[in-house]
Amino acid sequence: MSINLNLEEVLERMAHHGWRRTPAREAVVRVMLGTDRALQVHEVYQRATRYHPRIGMATVYRTLEILENLGFVQKVHAGECHRYYPTPPGHVHPLVCLRCFRVQNFAGDNSLGSLKAHLESQTGFHIQGHLLQFFGYCETCWQEMQGGAE
Ligand SMILES: [Zn+2]
Ligand SMILES: [Zn+2]
Repeated sequence: MSINLNLEEVLERMAHHGWRRTPAREAVVRVMLGTDRALQVHEVYQRATRYHPRIGMATVYRTLEILENLGFVQKVHAGECHRYYPTPPGHVHPLVCLRCFRVQNFAGDNSLGSLKAHLESQTGFHIQGHLLQFFGYCETCWQEMQGGAE
């Protein structure tokens, strides 16, 4: 989640929207608060069992969906599958590493503004927003892959 949030705040927001606090939902929130990389659903499930051993896969899916709808987590694309990652504050664009699945965030610069202007002048389209994600390899993974050894 965004670094400004804590477990209680998230659970309160969920409860406010009718999703009462349960040990299973709390487990999923704890996992997402504690990750520094984008996770597949089954990884969220595995980690959540540490907090709540009897949690079910369906609950994990549902809770991630709730958290996504409330804006606490976002889906990021990583090659063929998608993963979940805590939504950072502000309008940023994730760069997802396909090897370690750590996420860096790119706030944007003038090049995005000029791309928008270019597209509008080329197409006559009035752009109101965008979704933008990148995937590839982080600097550390890239170096390790080039070196061929740890
Ligand atoms: Zn943007
Ligand atoms: Zn990496």
